[in-house]
Amino acid sequence: MKIKYKDILYQDIAYVKGIGPEKAKILNEELQIFTIFDLLNYFPFRYEDRSIIHSIESINYTIEYAQVKGIITNIQTDTFGNKEVLIAQLKDATGKIDLVFFNGIKWLLKYLKIGKSYIAYGKVNQFRDTYNIQHPEIDEATEEILQFKTGLCAVYNTTERLKKSKWKIDSETIRKWIYNIYQTYPQLQIPENLSTEIIEKNKLISRQDAYKFIHLPENKDQILKAQQRLKFEELFFAQLDIARQHKKMKLSKGYVFESVGELFNEFYHKYLPFELTNAQKRVIREIRNDTKTGRQMNRLLQGDVGSGKTIVALFSALFAIDNGYQVAMMAPTEILAQQHFQTISKFLQPLPINVKLLTGSTSQKDRKIIHEQLISGELHFLIGTHALIEDTVQFKKLGLVIIDEQHRFGVAQRAKIQLKGDVPPHVLVMTATPIPRTLAMTIYGDLDVSILDELPPNRKPVITAHRYYSKRLDVLRFVKEQVDTGRQAYFVFPLIQESEKMDLEDLERGYEDLKKFFPSPQYKLVKVHGKMSNEEKDAAMQAFYSGKAQIMVATTVIEVGVDVPNASIMVIENANRFGLSQLHQLRGRVGRGSEKSYCILLTNNLSEEAKVRIDTLVRTSNGFEISEVDLKLRGPGELAGTRQSGMLKFKIADLTTDYPILKAAREAAIELLEKDEKLEHPEHWPIREYILQNEKEKPLWIKIA
Ligand code: ADP
Ligand code: MG
Repeated sequence: MKIKYKDILYQDIAYVKGIGPEKAKILNEELQIFTIFDLLNYFPFRYEDRSIIHSIESINYTIEYAQVKGIITNIQTDTFGNKEVLIAQLKDATGKIDLVFFNGIKWLLKYLKIGKSYIAYGKVNQFRDTYNIQHPEIDEATEEILQFKTGLCAVYNTTERLKKSKWKIDSETIRKWIYNIYQTYPQLQIPENLSTEIIEKNKLISRQDAYKFIHLPENKDQILKAQQRLKFEELFFAQLDIARQHKKMKLSKGYVFESVGELFNEFYHKYLPFELTNAQKRVIREIRNDTKTGRQMNRLLQGDVGSGKTIVALFSALFAIDNGYQVAMMAPTEILAQQHFQTISKFLQPLPINVKLLTGSTSQKDRKIIHEQLISGELHFLIGTHALIEDTVQFKKLGLVIIDEQHRFGVAQRAKIQLKGDVPPHVLVMTATPIPRTLAMTIYGDLDVSILDELPPNRKPVITAHRYYSKRLDVLRFVKEQVDTGRQAYFVFPLIQESEKMDLEDLERGYEDLKKFFPSPQYKLVKVHGKMSNEEKDAAMQAFYSGKAQIMVATTVIEVGVDVPNASIMVIENANRFGLSQLHQLRGRVGRGSEKSYCILLTNNLSEEAKVRIDTLVRTSNGFEISEVDLKLRGPGELAGTRQSGMLKFKIADLTTDYPILKAAREAAIELLEKDEKLEHPEHWPIREYILQNEKEKPLWIKIA
């Protein structure tokens, strides 16, 4: 009977040579591996080069791991302290070496036979002027073992439970099973899931070869090609999902903002206190064009700190309000929501626009008024935290949602907005920190993108310097000089949740210390941190905004949004404890006015990684560049926050390094959808079949559209 490839791939792993029902059970439980194909989809994370068999004579301190082959000439056991050891002497044509074992001695005494040939691999250890190998992997040097053991060997992750089980399932065990699969089923076939055109255009190898090479490569070239192919495939299907989502979003019906109305014109001509940058004008035009088409806008506005995103948001809001729609604006924190509220109500003050703030600390009474005015349509513009869309808030005619987001608002949350009402509101997402290209294509791949790539004029770059604590007094004197010329200064202290109490104590101590250096009544200091009541925070912020206080001592609560142009110095305490993007955000709080601005990073001795962060910040103020370095340091999951991490979990692709592959995969996905959206052409059937097979567990945001 001829076995079909499908039957083999989906066979229970219990039937694989060397596994059996008991081991199958713990593989199910530990690694969710049930079938042969599951096991083949368990990719190695690195390779060991075992192609060399060292001659014993050649072993010296330069060789870290050695592989030797020879005949065992002597076996003896000994005790070191109370530990038993077994020493087997292995001899090849060039010399002799001791293999030293501390574990499994009973088994080894049975397995090892004097006069037989063995192959051993392990760490070289120097003992006086001789060398030995400590607890090496050892196998009888049969033809089959030699074939399996030498060459490039894949290394797999395992779990504690697997390793501690009575079978001691380690990387080698897994490799052996996979080897056995390919030995038992030489006719094994992995169905292709890309079209010939895509394969050829991107110079990929077949899926069939890729699976073989990733596990059992004959040379390094095969590893590279296999990785490339499998990464491409993984990214391609992710991008295909995202591109489809994008396409569907672009087709959703949207409100038509017919005209540029009176409020817009009045504000633009009479009250706008500065000239817009060309980038701002361009983006406002992009938004205008989106909102008049009858299709829903889903736009991402990327712009570095200080590039002037708020005013763009405000003009977009005016489009909506002018056309009789309401606007909701959401910020990631309460402080930022308050800040937006203050900025925006100040700008709009001369206009007949009703703007209100709704946050966790809004009183029941005010909340009630807000709810009523939203339903009646009296309230035009509601600003709040992200809780706004979760809330039971009902609008009369919500036309635009603005999300100021700081990486905390993912596709899933946007999908929720999509569900509000028959016609969804337009959506403008603003990101406070630029996002590395790979992340943008993944997390925001479903959005159209606008970029503010120009800072308002007269901005002088912030002068950034790193100083050790030994120079703290000089730094303080410098700050004093600046403050004495009328400037204001921030002192920022780290606050990490895990060590919150100690951090707050640090801040309090720092605050008291600074008060001595900047004595009252000549100087006024305020402090702001998350543990203060809203009234206290407000009062402190207000004192600083108004210029009554010259110095603000704060935690990262001021990271986003806070906008005091006269504040031109920032001292960041223990700067090594902040993340890179966070430092960049913080620094964005200064350099907002026309004065020369300074950011001073204070630290003690730096670790290698902290040094990269600090050096990067000193070297550049380009947010995109900084975000790329940050991605390399921290990895995509951390960078994007846990909410989106599901989308960033790839089996083999790595967003920190695979930008070129991602780009190619994205282009292929978009091109495919343009040519044959429904994947009807026979050439595209393999792609369609693969998608249908993988439909099962799709996240919410894909199912929605
Ligand atoms: P961000 O993009 O970081 O949110 P903001 O919107 O807070 O930046 O703008 C930073 C500062 O620059 C604000 O004080 C804002 O009023 C000011 N600003 C924005 N656009 C311009 C412009 N075209 N010319 C001068 N100042 C501007
Ligand atoms: Mg902002």
